[in-house]
Amino acid sequence: MKSYAVCQCGAPLELREQATPEPTGREVLLRVLAAGVCHSDLHFWEGVYDLGGGKQLKLTDRGMTLPLTMGHETVGEVVAVGPHVRDVKVGDRRLAYPWIGCGECKVCRRGDEQLCLKPRFLGVFRPGGYSDHLLVPHSRYLLDFGDLPPEQAAPLACSGVTAYGALRKVGGVLQTDPIVIIGAGGLGLMCLAVLKALGGHGAIVLDIDPTKRDAAREAGALAAIDANAPDAVQQVTAAADGGVWAVIDFVGAASTVRLGIDCLTKGGKLIVVGLFGGEITIPTPYIPIKAMTLQGSYTGSLAELKELIDLVRRAPLPMIPVRRRPLDEAFAALTDLKAGKVTGRVILAPTG
Ligand SMILES: [Zn+2]
Ligand SMILES: [Zn+2]
Repeated sequence: MKSYAVCQCGAPLELREQATPEPTGREVLLRVLAAGVCHSDLHFWEGVYDLGGGKQLKLTDRGMTLPLTMGHETVGEVVAVGPHVRDVKVGDRRLAYPWIGCGECKVCRRGDEQLCLKPRFLGVFRPGGYSDHLLVPHSRYLLDFGDLPPEQAAPLACSGVTAYGALRKVGGVLQTDPIVIIGAGGLGLMCLAVLKALGGHGAIVLDIDPTKRDAAREAGALAAIDANAPDAVQQVTAAADGGVWAVIDFVGAASTVRLGIDCLTKGGKLIVVGLFGGEITIPTPYIPIKAMTLQGSYTGSLAELKELIDLVRRAPLPMIPVRRRPLDEAFAALTDLKAGKVTGRVILAPTG
């Protein structure tokens, strides 16, 4: 088995060759068909989150061990199954749900494995898809994506379920009122597409980049507003015909969280998804006086990914531009992403 691994945070990925694992119990071995290169891989590769004020959160202090084969958006073909696997067979093509927990604690049994305190996330805490093979610990994490092209199915495991998980937290106002989306990068555009597929009322998008605002308008945003405009909040309020009930922040910087709070009407909810980093101070009386909710959202659950795949099979999302690159270019793909040279998605395809 050939994989590209982070052996030292921030250093080039290294080629590793090992014996291909043999699945036992309920494990399944996939031959990788498509592995998405995601923005969060840049965080895993660099190994830190910025906490603001010069402080950092080190991922190796949170259980990440090196060498690490990254890749959490993986589609593969089943090539071997453990003796107790009944629900998939050799030759099936499946999307791997990567946000796997211990499977035994209360949180996991409630169905929120992505929030488990002993995570086994593929490509973060266990080997992921930057490889020609992927061992999945249980067949229940493999999802049938029907006729979707593998390179369109792969990002559903991360940006798709992250957008869907955030939208699910908005609740019923999704259908009746405009929401605000901060950040019109890949996640923001995915969120607009999923919102449309859900039959949502629509979204006002905030971004500092005029090109991204154009992309948001083309993707069906009700309005696209410059997040740096001094009257950005007034523009949002005018476009929404009043304050908004829900803001989803895909950036997660101190300035965007502040902006998100300022856009909320009383009783509103800010859902923070982005991990840009920073810190904010909130006058505590605002919390009761505005009756506001500040909620974080981290990826989505296995059930949410299943719902999303069902939704996308009924109401296809617009195709994301995809560039396929051979597995051997894994590190180049990562550095291009860091340099902002990637439009859409890069998919590593071991078979070319
Ligand atoms: Zn658990
Ligand atoms: Zn990701």
